[in-house]
This record gives sequence, C-alpha cells and structure tokens, in this order.
Amino acid sequence: MSDAMQIFYLRDADGHLQAVQLSATLWEKVEHVVQPFLQEADVSKPAAATPEPLESFAEFLQFWDFAYPYSPAVSCPHCGQSVKDWRTAPDHPFVLVNANLGGLLVFHCKNCQTTIRQKHFRDHLALEHSTPHY
Ligand SMILES: [Zn+2]
Repeated sequence: MSDAMQIFYLRDADGHLQAVQLSATLWEKVEHVVQPFLQEADVSKPAAATPEPLESFAEFLQFWDFAYPYSPAVSCPHCGQSVKDWRTAPDHPFVLVNANLGGLLVFHCKNCQTTIRQKHFRDHLALEHSTPHY
C-alpha cells in the first residue's frame, strides 16, 4: 500500500480505537461507497437542517388556481403556535418540508415537532396534523 492510500487508526492513550482517518486519495476511491450511509444518517437530523423545498413551493404558487387566495398563515393545533406568514415570521417557527402542485403543503412545527399538513382543495383548505409521541 502506498502512502497515498493509507488508513490511519487514531487511538487514545489506552490504545482504544477512536477514529479511522483515510488519506484523500483513498477517500476519493471509497467515497461513493460510503456516501449512501452518510445520507441515511442525515434522515435522523431534525427537519430544520434540511433545506426547504422552496422551488416546489414557488411552483405550487405559480399553478394556484383555487377559488380563494393563498394564505401563508400557519398555526399548530398541538402547541398553539401561530404565524400570519410562515415565510417572514421571526425565528421561522414553521419549516416547510414538502410542497406539491396537488395542493399539499407540509410544515414542521419547531416548537413541538408536530407535522402540519395543509391540503388545499378547490374551494376549501383542510388541515391535518400528527404529533410524535416520545
Ligand atoms: Zn407545535
């Protein structure tokens, strides 16, 4: 194994393995193998860490053809948090996690982790929510 393909085992003072470091050359070779595992790990991160699907939301607005104007107000049925406009509210308490042209907007309440689904129908808006149980 050449130096460029080295693996470094980092041990603490007692000799216990703490971490494994790969040389850049080796990492380039194995990155595509490791990447799926990193993405899996990403799933467990809070929704706030992933970017909001703002392009989908823009399309959602662009194709809006319902009988009433779009309202950016979001409120959480679980903890009572409420904003007039989720896009501009201070601290951004509601994170958009999904948007589709069929009229569905999904928000995540940062305060209590509740998922709020706004289902926009032709002439009315229906709300659904689910709160995780710990
Ligand atoms: Zn809430």
